Amino acid sequence: MITAYAASSPESKFEKIEYDPGDLHPDEVEIAVEYCGICHSDLSMKKNDWQLTEYPFVGGHEIAGKVVATGVDVEHLNLGQRVGVGWTARSCMHCNQCLSGYHNRCAEAQGTIVGRHGGFADRVRAQSEWVIPVPENVELVDCGPLFCGGLTVFAPLIENNIRPTDRIAVVGIGGLGHMALQFAKSWGCHVTAFSTSPDKEDEAKSMGAHEFLNSRDEQALASAANQFDMVIVTVNADLPWDAYVATLKPGGKLHLVGAAESIKATVFPLIMGEKSIGASPTGGIVPARQMMDFCSRHAIKPMIEKYPMSDIDEAMERLESGKARYRVVLEA
Ligand SMILES: [Zn+2]
Ligand SMILES: [Zn+2]
Repeated sequence: MITAYAASSPESKFEKIEYDPGDLHPDEVEIAVEYCGICHSDLSMKKNDWQLTEYPFVGGHEIAGKVVATGVDVEHLNLGQRVGVGWTARSCMHCNQCLSGYHNRCAEAQGTIVGRHGGFADRVRAQSEWVIPVPENVELVDCGPLFCGGLTVFAPLIENNIRPTDRIAVVGIGGLGHMALQFAKSWGCHVTAFSTSPDKEDEAKSMGAHEFLNSRDEQALASAANQFDMVIVTVNADLPWDAYVATLKPGGKLHLVGAAESIKATVFPLIMGEKSIGASPTGGIVPARQMMDFCSRHAIKPMIEKYPMSDIDEAMERLESGKARYRVVLEA
């Protein structure tokens, strides 16, 4: 039996439950959870914002722990190995997207907390390929948030062929943004942090920002015209989109990883500057492995606030308040 923290409805608090996960699938591994980050998607799923939630709901998809059981077909992971799991727990492995390395685009991909129970638990299961080994010099306590929030901002650097000569802006210095700053800095880029909180300037600079821009200051935004190869938007707010497009160099890309409801932008500047607007969800298996290697090499880790898993309701409230700096992590 697996012990987990489950919500029985959108409004209810988490309660301890036990569930029987059944036989271990031949291609799955079971992980003893040591830490699990809380992502905004856990909150959205708890509230059934996306009409995907089944109750009792067990969230948790920023999992770090150790392998405690392997299915009979699993040969590349060992008992006791330190691993992590993010948003995706399974994909078909035979569609063209999977075979092209875009496993995260698989139409049959299963979310770790969608129709199955996630990492707010003592153990959790996932298809072995989606179980990412953690390099020796990365601490488990630090790596949970990399597997969802981190990967979401790391994958765009890979998929858009970002070069060290590029200038990158990160909009929103929170759970995702504070990791994006570190990735872009270590990538070799010139990095600008956009935030509505001027009190985050020192921290943003300590995490890799060369410059800090108060995004509520229209003049500051206007003065950043024509500067960036990519602007990564991690917030879900309705922004003055034309002003952000104007900050792009010709050929630049406004890349959204925060789910604003809709965007409206004037087409002419996009045409004349050959600029683009795009978006991406979390990344695939290979970018996740590359990210862990990159974090190991550059000593990148999220800044976390740690709570015992038994205080999950309090931890969720902290996330919801938007005051956490910068990621909330539960200790099992
Ligand atoms: Zn997430
Ligand atoms: Zn597939």
